[in-house]
Amino acid sequence: METARLKLKTCAGCAKLMQPPVFHCPACGSAELRDRELEAKGEIYTLSTVYATFGSWGKKVPFTLAVVELPETLRVIGVVEDPDAATRPFRIGDRVRFARYDEGQAPIFARDPA
Ligand SMILES: [Zn+2]
Repeated sequence: METARLKLKTCAGCAKLMQPPVFHCPACGSAELRDRELEAKGEIYTLSTVYATFGSWGKKVPFTLAVVELPETLRVIGVVEDPDAATRPFRIGDRVRFARYDEGQAPIFARDPA
């Protein structure tokens, strides 16, 4: 099975990594951004459970939104999912890995068994 890879942007000027959507590098102002993909294994920096939202995500509530800190010195936002989340809720510091994109290109992270 092919490893899922998170789509990011990197600045051609200063190499800063960013999570799309982004149009200019916030560090140096360059508009020359290149695609970069990562396996994206990290840990939950912070999280919040969403009980009400709009659009297609409204049908998925409740879900847990997390800021995931990657070792590449980048924090990304995504949804964390786990079939056992009802009995074993996600916590700050839990290891997760990028699993797939859902509709609207939202990155979905799953518990990292490693
Ligand atoms: Zn830059």
